[in-house]
Amino acid sequence: MTAGVRRIIHVDMDAFYASVEQRDDPSLRGKPVAVGGQPGARGVVAASSYEARVFGVRSAMPMARAVRLCPDLVIVRPDFQRYRAASQRILDIFRSCTPLVEPLSLDEAYLDVSDNLWGETLATPVAGRLKQRMGEETQLSASAGVAPNKFLAKIASGWQKPDGLTVISPGRVEAFLQQLPVDALWGVGPVTAAKLRKIGIARLVEVRAADPELLRRAVGGLADALRRLAMGDDPRPVLPDRPYKSSSSENTYNEDLLDLDEIRAEIGRMARQTADWLARKELLARTVTIKVRYADFTTVTRSHTAAAPTRDPDELAARALMLLARTDAGRRPIRLLGAGVHGFDGDDAAIGFPGVLRFED
Ligand SMILES: [Mg+2]
Repeated sequence: MTAGVRRIIHVDMDAFYASVEQRDDPSLRGKPVAVGGQPGARGVVAASSYEARVFGVRSAMPMARAVRLCPDLVIVRPDFQRYRAASQRILDIFRSCTPLVEPLSLDEAYLDVSDNLWGETLATPVAGRLKQRMGEETQLSASAGVAPNKFLAKIASGWQKPDGLTVISPGRVEAFLQQLPVDALWGVGPVTAAKLRKIGIARLVEVRAADPELLRRAVGGLADALRRLAMGDDPRPVLPDRPYKSSSSENTYNEDLLDLDEIRAEIGRMARQTADWLARKELLARTVTIKVRYADFTTVTRSHTAAAPTRDPDELAARALMLLARTDAGRRPIRLLGAGVHGFDGDDAAIGFPGVLRFED
């Protein structure tokens, strides 16, 4: 580890799937393009070109709605093989600069360039060179954020899109934090943001002065992380080649659980953990599953699949609790509980999406 200030870059490709399509098929250039499933098959928009965004077409929107907003929309079926190939070339460029590359998805990665193979002392010229090489070698554009940590670098990359380069030097961190609404953070969805506003917190920096008990009641386990981030503090290292973690969590208890309130609290906590994981990975899931193992080792699972994918912690927790009501929790002693999320269902398979839907911008 380098002592002192870290230099982190977050790179986010611009309208990645749609840009790859426009690059590979010149007839799509300059046109409103949406990558996704057909409107008749209840398809959704996985990515839209900037020309389509002018009409209000957005990722995760039902394709039928997108077509109503933009009647000339060109719908392209996703081809993940080509997106993966483009992603691989981009990662090769990143790794020519530093081994500390952490991909978050096909079109997004963190780089720690504190020490880099290009011999640059500052991160800003590194980011500029990365963008230039991506343009030359892949004909794709990206937006980059440069900052002393991951949290700030990621927000910075979204600040000016497309083809942006936003730098938050250590001396500008405080001024930057002052501008952020609280829902700029991962893990803070609309429901959580509404709860925070109810206790008078609209801006991230207002978390600093919040009453700790009030904050905990509003956002539960998110409170500590929020307080740290409100100070601009994010110690997470850039982890190269980190495999996707499982999106489920489970726990075996030393003593069997019989108290229903306690069991409900545990399931709610686990469901919220999966929501955090989805937020970090920028994934959405349709299906919530819980697992209950009774003291006699009989194990049951219960699943619920919703029409719309989500990562809202409140919704996921509510659905997990609804599933818990369909078990013998509270009536039979329980030795293990688990909760997880999955995106796979018939619709996704039919339109060629991978198991968990990911929307990009
Ligand atoms: Mg992107």
